[in-house]
This record gives sequence, structure tokens and C-alpha cells, in this order.
Amino acid sequence: MTLEERLIRLIETEGPIPLSTYMQIALHDPKQGYYAARPGIGRDFTTAPETSQVFGELIGLWLVHEWRAMGEPAAFRLVEIGPGRALLLHDALKIASLAGGEAFLKAAQLTLVEPSPALRLVQKERLARFNPSFARQLSDVPPGPMLLVANEYLDCLPARQFRRDGERWRECVIGLSPERSLVMGLAADEPRPPAGATLTGDVVEVQTGLDLVVADLASRKEPFRALFIDYGPADRAPGDTLRAFRKGQQVSPLAEPGANDLTVDVDFGRFARLAASASLDAHGPAPQGMFLLGLGAQARLNQLIKANPDQAEEIFNAAQRLIDPQHMGERFKAICLSSSGLPKPAGF
Ligand code: SAH
Repeated sequence: MTLEERLIRLIETEGPIPLSTYMQIALHDPKQGYYAARPGIGRDFTTAPETSQVFGELIGLWLVHEWRAMGEPAAFRLVEIGPGRALLLHDALKIASLAGGEAFLKAAQLTLVEPSPALRLVQKERLARFNPSFARQLSDVPPGPMLLVANEYLDCLPARQFRRDGERWRECVIGLSPERSLVMGLAADEPRPPAGATLTGDVVEVQTGLDLVVADLASRKEPFRALFIDYGPADRAPGDTLRAFRKGQQVSPLAEPGANDLTVDVDFGRFARLAASASLDAHGPAPQGMFLLGLGAQARLNQLIKANPDQAEEIFNAAQRLIDPQHMGERFKAICLSSSGLPKPAGF
């Protein structure tokens, strides 16, 4: 049975399901979900570490810097959530070993949070030298001081959507058409959007997964710092931003569940407010371009071009895509959540 047929049966027996349930199943069904069955990084979409090595390298410098700011703990958890093909940490740890970070590397206990068995294999192989262990979710990461990075992870956390209906709000749900195909509709009852949602506009999208990330971070007893990079507006709540991608093309989010990447814009404002109410420090969101320039992107780029003059144009263009506001420089943002009492993180 295809995942689509299983979803149809589920809806026939259970009734229409919230968008967040649909996203969770389409992305993470252990057998037929997108990330389990055919994760398409580099095929369906391209990410910053896949675009230029400069991205991972600067984050490597950031990690060493923040480890020092935390007082150089002799053992700490170095965590990445959703490492994909593990290029970010590959480039980050390579530069750390060059930049006098031997003590950092010695102290780091690499833990990768990755539900996809297919991607775990890739990550294990690429990072074999650093002996990574795996966790299914953030709450399974063992205690201890922690530095965490996650690029393009928040955008695939399930979202609920609510639509204004006169004075009321109604939840967007996935149901069945008379022909038995998946359709988006509005729930018959009238739930209120969850607390903390910004009720402007006629559609409000709420990523319930953000609440869990903040709760998991806030429950840690030792100091930590967590850097998230993703896309979304800085100053308003996302409306309907659900999109599906296949081979770089946008397709319908309901077409062939499990075959396409599903993504929404991240509500950084809400993420920062959730963090503040859990007594965490939040820095940013800062535009990715500014963040990378602040970490020394220009100097690293010059170095690379000098060492590889034949590939100067290619190297320049790739790094430029990350920084240029017309490309990823503005739409992508970095936000850092920390346990309270640490100094301001670099790049913010
Ligand atoms: N960070 C990588 C990959 C981004 S793709 C890069 O920048 O290239 C999204 C990644 O997040 C994949 O590795 C996917 O398996 C993982 N992911 C998606 N949902 C997740 C979840 N709920 N928990 C942990 N990882 C998740």
C-alpha cells in the first residue's frame, strides 16, 4: 500500500486530520515517509553547506569560539539536529582542527539527532573519524554542557494552520474529496489557535514543533548554546507558507505524500518569545548574510581563492549565494538560544 493509500484509509476511519499530522506522516513515517524513504538533499533542494564549504567552516569557528565562551568544558555534547549529508560538521570540524581547536575536538562528544536511517548511514561514514553517536530526538541527548547547530531543520517541523472565518477561527485539515483523493478543508469545530500565535492576517500558521524544541532545551541542567539557521520573516507571523518541492520544482503539498519535501517558513518571533518565557536567552534572528560576514566570510573567501586561483569564480559565486540578500543572505536567518548567563554569541 502506498503512503497515500494509508493516509486515505486513516482519514476514512478517523476523520480529517490536522495539517501537522499530515506533515508528520508524509515526512517521517518510518517506512514510507520522505526522510526515511528518499531524502532528497541535493536532488529536491540544495542547502547552504551543500552550496559552499565556507558555511560549515565559519560555523566551525563559531563553535570553537562559543566553547571558549562557555569556559572550555573538558567534555561537552556537540550536537547537530538533521545533519543531512553531514557536510556542515565535516567542514566545521576540519577547520576547527586547523584553527587551534585540538582541545575543542578532544572535548567534543559528537551526537547526531537524525530520524532517517538512510541519512544516518551517510553521516556515520562522512564523520567516522569523530565517532558520532546517534539520538532519535533532542530529548534523548545525554546530559552535559552542549553546543548545538541545526541548519534547515526547523522548517520541516509540522505546522497547524488556522483560517479566519468571520469572527471565528477554523483549523485547516486534510480530508477526502468525493472521488477519495486528499483535499484541504476546514474543520467543522472551532478550536482556538494555540497560545502565543499572532492573530493578524486571515491565515495563521503555527509550528507546534517549536514549542517542543524550546521545552527540550529548557529542561537541560548544564549550560548550552543552540544555533538554528533557517528561512522565515523576521517581523511577522507566517500566513500560509506550506510548500512542497521535488527536483527543485514546487509541487502540490498533497501530491504523492512521502515523495516530496514539505516545508514552512519559521516564525522566528514566536520562537524567540517561547525561549524568553522559558527563561532562555535569545539572540537574533540575524540575516544569514550579516551573520556570515560577521564571522569573517570575506577573509575566508579571499584565502580560499588565493589557494585555488583556477576555481576563483566558482568559489566566489557559491559563497556569494549564501551572503547576497538577493539569494540566501536575507531570507535565511540565524537565531541563537542559550542557557542564561553566557556572554553574547559571535555574529549577533
Ligand atoms: N542540515 C542539512 C540537512 C537539511 S534537510 C543541510 O543543511 O544540508 C533536513 C534534515 O533534518 C534531514 O537530515 C532530516 O532527516 C532532518 N529532520 C527532519 N525532521 C526532523 C526531526 N523531527 N528531528 C530530527 N531531524 C529531522
